[in-house]
Amino acid sequence: MKILATDLDRTLLPNGNWEGDSEAISMFNDLTQKHDVLVVYVTGRNLALTESAISKFGVRYPDILCGDVGTSIRKYENGEWTFDNGWIEHVKRESPRWDAIAIKDAVAVIEGIREQESEHQNQFKQSYYVDHERKNQVLKNVDELVKGKFDEVIVYSFDSQDGKGLLDFLPASATKQTALEYVAEELGSTKKDVVFCGDSGNDIFPLTAGFCGVLVRNADNQLVENVIKAMDENPNLKVYFAKGDFMGLKGYYTSGVIEGAYHYGVFDDAMDG
Ligand SMILES: [Mg+2]
Repeated sequence: MKILATDLDRTLLPNGNWEGDSEAISMFNDLTQKHDVLVVYVTGRNLALTESAISKFGVRYPDILCGDVGTSIRKYENGEWTFDNGWIEHVKRESPRWDAIAIKDAVAVIEGIREQESEHQNQFKQSYYVDHERKNQVLKNVDELVKGKFDEVIVYSFDSQDGKGLLDFLPASATKQTALEYVAEELGSTKKDVVFCGDSGNDIFPLTAGFCGVLVRNADNQLVENVIKAMDENPNLKVYFAKGDFMGLKGYYTSGVIEGAYHYGVFDDAMDG
């Protein structure tokens, strides 16, 4: 089975500063259908924000949604979402010390962070806005108070669109990477059968976890550097850097996803289209 997994914002969705190709989204929709590809969205968005992206940008529905940075998994079939309770049980088993309330209490004293709105929190996701200028101090305090105590991972990312620092506490077993690993296993596929496309921050984990990675051309410099470093340390990693000038596409966002999918043979008819 061919599995194409992709981040949404500024990877599949053209909502950054670069100019996307106007035809790319309909090409993506057509190509994934034509080649019978199983499509997975792996995103920080919750279900409501994913649905609003689908209607705003006209991208197709995925077959599977790893939402809320991997802390929720849903299948989409016959026009209906089904929540994966098996994933919840799996995470509880794998990260027994996870405790969102205790983390919330622990970080309450830290200055320079503000809890995100309730729709961005769930039982496996405790999230904050961070004053980006104070990032170093904040992360130092966070490490002192939280690190290693709750089977957690601490993920910092910077939203270049609105200048916000974002801080997520997640169970170590419920990230974009582990959610995608779980999905692949449930489908009976190996990591080598899965292409994952990303552009920034927390995409580093699935990009360096043994999937076939793709960086869209507009990927953050910091992510590019981190991926190159990881590839130096692990020569088995496969990551493709979209460069554009491919089928008349420029390589940004959706176009980079298409380019990467062709690179790995997920779409395999570049010549006859
Ligand atoms: Mg993104």
